[in-house]
Amino acid sequence: MRRVFMLGVLAAAGVLSLTVGAYQQPDAPKVVEVEKLKDNLFVMKGGGGNSAVFITADGVTVVDTKLPGWGQPLLDKIKTVTSKPVTRIINTHTHFDHVSGNVEFPATVEVIVQENTKALMDQMNPVYGIQTGPQPNLFKQNGGKGMPKRTFKDKMTLGKGADQIDLYYFGAAHTGGDAYVVFPSLRVMHVGDTMPTRDVPIMDKNNGGSAVAFSATLAKAAAVGGVDTLINGHNPTTTTPADLKLYSEFIADFVKFAQDAKKAGKSVDDVVAGWKVPAKYTGYATPNPARVKADAQVAFDETK
Ligand SMILES: [Zn+2]
Repeated sequence: MRRVFMLGVLAAAGVLSLTVGAYQQPDAPKVVEVEKLKDNLFVMKGGGGNSAVFITADGVTVVDTKLPGWGQPLLDKIKTVTSKPVTRIINTHTHFDHVSGNVEFPATVEVIVQENTKALMDQMNPVYGIQTGPQPNLFKQNGGKGMPKRTFKDKMTLGKGADQIDLYYFGAAHTGGDAYVVFPSLRVMHVGDTMPTRDVPIMDKNNGGSAVAFSATLAKAAAVGGVDTLINGHNPTTTTPADLKLYSEFIADFVKFAQDAKKAGKSVDDVVAGWKVPAKYTGYATPNPARVKADAQVAFDETK
């Protein structure tokens, strides 16, 4: 049972983080790579989504905790950059490659998420287009450990001055609870998987995600002031608010293409056959047909 579960998780992780690089074998060493963005802000990569590690006067805030089994390697790597304890986890959204490590942190660590994400973490619904059937719930398996006890709806500010963190929710996109995490003193924002890479994103309708709302949500995030640098859910390098704005146009173009196809009586397979990344989106990946098909289906379902 456990073996089947792990293989399923790893297979799904491979799809979720296509551009992250090597497919993780079960026995492969869990190597967390560190990129120093600022003196007190690090991006820790590998084993699922990119984690942000923000060191404040009182302790360390971690944004996203990776795949099952990667919480402890992440904690170990954090110890190489600071002797302060981790006091807070913020999860950008419910997906297992961003939340699973929560259960490996001390139970005293405060977990904060957008309120819809808390409900989704209770459910751990299969990721649309990637997983089918009931999914294991690590939080329930661990007696509720790692679940958020604090939530926000549209905006929350934590700390002040150099330690300030602003959390925003702008509506459905990748899921129905995507948080944007801003470190205003450093002019950096973690955008989670609302812009995972320069590629067609997952539009996870099983977890509140939306094709039709996606672009407008991104545009609001791109318009948050005082930000120069973005940490993306899976991109190996940082991007900028201008990149996010362009990405919002990319999503709008794709969704319009799918909606126009539906209105013309075409099928999702016609969208897969006909969609090409427009030339203005330089450096974008060649889309995975299965991902295009899943997203086109979400757009079709939302279009009357
Ligand atoms: Zn995700």
